[in-house]
Amino acid sequence: MNDRYLAFANSNAGRRLVGALGLPAPVRLERWMAGRTRPVDGALLIGGSGSLAEAASAALNRLTDQNFADVEGRFGLPRWTAEHGPKLKALIFDASGLTRFEQLIELRDFFQPAIKGLGKCPKVVVLARAPEATKDLVAASVQRSLEGFTRSLGKEIRRGGNVQLIYVGKGAEEQLEGTLRFFLSPKSAYVSAQVLRLTACAEKVQDWTRPLAGKRALVTGASRGIGAAIAETLARDGAEVILLDVPQAKDALDGLAARLGGRGVAMDITADDAAGQLVDALPEGVDILVHNAGITRDKTLAKMSDDFWNSVINVNLRAPQVLTQALLDAGKLHDNGRVVLIASISGIAGNLGQTNYAVSKAGVIGLAQNWAPVLGKRGISINAVAPGFIETQMTAAIPLTIREAGRRMNSMNQGGLPQDVAEAVAWFAQPGSGALTGQVMRVCGQSLLGA
Ligand code: NAP
Repeated sequence: MNDRYLAFANSNAGRRLVGALGLPAPVRLERWMAGRTRPVDGALLIGGSGSLAEAASAALNRLTDQNFADVEGRFGLPRWTAEHGPKLKALIFDASGLTRFEQLIELRDFFQPAIKGLGKCPKVVVLARAPEATKDLVAASVQRSLEGFTRSLGKEIRRGGNVQLIYVGKGAEEQLEGTLRFFLSPKSAYVSAQVLRLTACAEKVQDWTRPLAGKRALVTGASRGIGAAIAETLARDGAEVILLDVPQAKDALDGLAARLGGRGVAMDITADDAAGQLVDALPEGVDILVHNAGITRDKTLAKMSDDFWNSVINVNLRAPQVLTQALLDAGKLHDNGRVVLIASISGIAGNLGQTNYAVSKAGVIGLAQNWAPVLGKRGISINAVAPGFIETQMTAAIPLTIREAGRRMNSMNQGGLPQDVAEAVAWFAQPGSGALTGQVMRVCGQSLLGA
């Protein structure tokens, strides 16, 4: 859908008016363009005092060719200063060395000048150690306090920028590159204030230009909207794609599948024989399973019919569980597979008129969290991506005033695009992303809902 206010606020006249009236001023977000190779298009500054900066430094030259450090000569890099340095596109701060409350001032000391030196759509990643990984109460509290810092900085950074906190487990340092490639590039355009945990993972991406080469992926609800964007993005990253949608969408489905060099499977995922149909449709099995098909049937609970309740639970929650189990039982989900469930911030924050939908999406998060340890035994990861307001047919159907509120009530003052959710799914689908499992990542521009 067209966000006319975004276009207006970025016009010459609009910019002046929006500024004079103190209205939300959404910045046009940069997005990944096919063919691009460097994740960071500009200068990157790395700082902080722990051991994770060292691990991250090994990947710096592959992220950008303009690297700076907070101390002259660290990692062989020149020092960046606010007076002489170029505008910064990306910041990495290693906070893992902070173990005492009085050291927290190092956050201010590093970020205060750096924030003033940021260019457009800057990316910030804070690296840390999970609080639960230390027995030292104060050190654990200091590491936990970083959540407050990154979430607040996400609200202050403006310019279309974003900020994330990554807790890196012992042995997970090797997976930092994939994480930095996602969070420091425009692929994470609409993801902000997220806290994720990396654990060790033996799988690795072989070719960063086609990280999903040799993988076969199934995407449900793939004829349009977010599902179509996911299929396109997985295909861009080298996967062979199988697109599934309702029989009524067969033409659109087959058209897109042909364009992506994949194939379509037209079926209703809630049909009584859906599990058997799907197993038959996937003779060679899959490596990547994306449960994206979803519906809304909004009514307040007082007016909620059986049909509205059951249809939403069946499509959004029951079908992903039943179909995943069927593929597992039939040996069609390969070892080291990647399962991604599309949840929603409604499943985190709740939403008026959406008890059925919020139940289904919170349940999907439950599937990811509770299935992760079981599937982990076969190297399979399962995660949930929770979109906020994304510009699709689903949100176009929302009444105007509620739609406008949904668009603006986030740190980026705008809705996201299907591509933003798709990039997150494609990252979770990578071999090295087995380092993440049982987690929920919001793609919501740091929505105020359930933040
Ligand atoms: P969409 O445009 O409505 O596309 C969903 C697709 O799934 C449609 O083609 C739909 O077919 C299909 N589908 C529905 N029921 C099915 C079934 N029983 N079997 C097979 N396919 C079925 O939705 P979207 O906006 O792209 O959303 C995709 C996912 O993101 C959903 O899970 C949604 O809940 C989630 N999400 C979206 C937003 C947002 O802002 N758009 C925010 C949070 C979460 P029909 O034409 O029959 O409906």
